[in-house]
Amino acid sequence: MSGYTIIPQVIAYSGEIVDDPIIYVPDDGTDRGERLSYQDPKSSDYLNGVLRARVKTNRAGVVRMRKLNTRRQWACMDHGMCQVCGKFARDPQTKRLWWLLVPPVFEQVDVDSGRTNAPPICQTCIPFALRDCPMLLRNVTLWSVGWTESAGVLGDLYRPNVCGIPHLKLKNVFVPWDNFRRLPDTLATSQVLLLKDMRQHDLPEPAPPDPEPIHPVGVPELAWPPPRTQDRASPHRS
Ligand SMILES: [Zn+2]
Repeated sequence: MSGYTIIPQVIAYSGEIVDDPIIYVPDDGTDRGERLSYQDPKSSDYLNGVLRARVKTNRAGVVRMRKLNTRRQWACMDHGMCQVCGKFARDPQTKRLWWLLVPPVFEQVDVDSGRTNAPPICQTCIPFALRDCPMLLRNVTLWSVGWTESAGVLGDLYRPNVCGIPHLKLKNVFVPWDNFRRLPDTLATSQVLLLKDMRQHDLPEPAPPDPEPIHPVGVPELAWPPPRTQDRASPHRS
C-alpha cells in the first residue's frame, strides 16, 4: 500500500525500472568522438541527440512517489498532459496550461518565465494534488502558462574512466539542448520545459477528504522525432 489516495499517472513504479548496461560508442559528430549508448542500441533510445533512460510503462511493482516515469513524464511535456490524470491539461477557455510549482522543480529565469521538469496539471486535479501531495505542502504556487518550449533535459552526467567505461560524475544535471559538449555524456531522465508568459493565480482550496477516484488514462506512444514545442497556447499573447 502506498498510503496515498491518488497516484499521479506520471509517478514511477519499482517494476518499471530498466537497468540495461550503458557503454561508450564511437561518434565522429561529438567533441571527444564518442557518446553514451546502451549495449544493445535501438534507434528509439535517442531523442534530439541525447540518450534517454529506458523504462517500462507497465505500472508493475511498488509506487515510487518521489520518482517520475521517464516516458510518461516526456509524454506529458510533449503533449501538455496532466501529470495526475493523464488527460490533456490545457484550459478549454483560455487555452493556457496550468502548473503547480515548488522551488525544487522550478528555476525562474525571468520575471514571467522559468524552467521545470514538472509536468502540467489540469484544473480538475489541482485541488486533489493540493490535498494529497506532501511535496506541495510548503511554497507551492499556481501558474497559468501561455507558451512553452523544450529547453533540454535533466539527467545523469557520465565520463569515461581510464578503461573507457562510463563513470557517473553528476546526478540530476540540467543540460540544455545546445550544450553539445555535455549531451553525448548525458543519460536523460526527464525533459525540461521553458515556461513563458507565466501568470500567478490564487490557490484553490484543497479537495475534501473523501475523494472522487481519478483513473489515469493511457499514455500515447511518443512521436519520433518529438515535436519541438513552440507551443503558442495563448491567443491573447501580445
Ligand atoms: Zn488531471
